[in-house]
Amino acid sequence: MENCIFCKIIKGEIPSCIVYEDEEIIAFKDIHPKAPVHILVIPKKHINCINDIEPEDEKIIGKIYSVIKQLAKVQNIDKNGYRVVVNCGEDGGQEVMHLHFHLMGGKKLPIK
Ligand code: AMP
Ligand code: ZN
Repeated sequence: MENCIFCKIIKGEIPSCIVYEDEEIIAFKDIHPKAPVHILVIPKKHINCINDIEPEDEKIIGKIYSVIKQLAKVQNIDKNGYRVVVNCGEDGGQEVMHLHFHLMGGKKLPIK
C-alpha cells in the first residue's frame, strides 16, 4: 500500500528496530514508547483496521498472538504481565491505518 508508513517499514524503506520477522508478520519497537517495552506487531499484508479483517486473515491474526506470546517471553515481561491494545478508527485513536497490535509492559500500566 503506497504512503503507508508501516508498509514502508516492511519494505525497509524506513528504518525501524525490528525485533521479530517471518514471511507473514513483523514486529518493531514503537518510536514513541509508552512503556519500557512497547512493540508493534503487524501483519505484512496491508489491512487497514479490524473492520477490514477477512475470514482468510483469521489464521494470521491467531499467529500474531503466538508471536506476541513469544516476544513477551523474550522481553521478560511474561511473568509480570503486559497489555495488548488494538486501536480501531478515529474514536479508537488509530493513527496509522495498517492493523497493528501494541505490546506494552515492563511496568505497572495505568488503568485507562
Ligand atoms: P495507533 O495510534 O494505534 O495508530 O498507533 C500508532 C503507533 O505507531 C504509535 O504508538 C506511534 O508511536 C507508532 N509509530 C508511528 N510511526 C512509527 C515509526 N516510524 N516507527 C515505529 N513506530 C511508529
Ligand atoms: Zn500498510
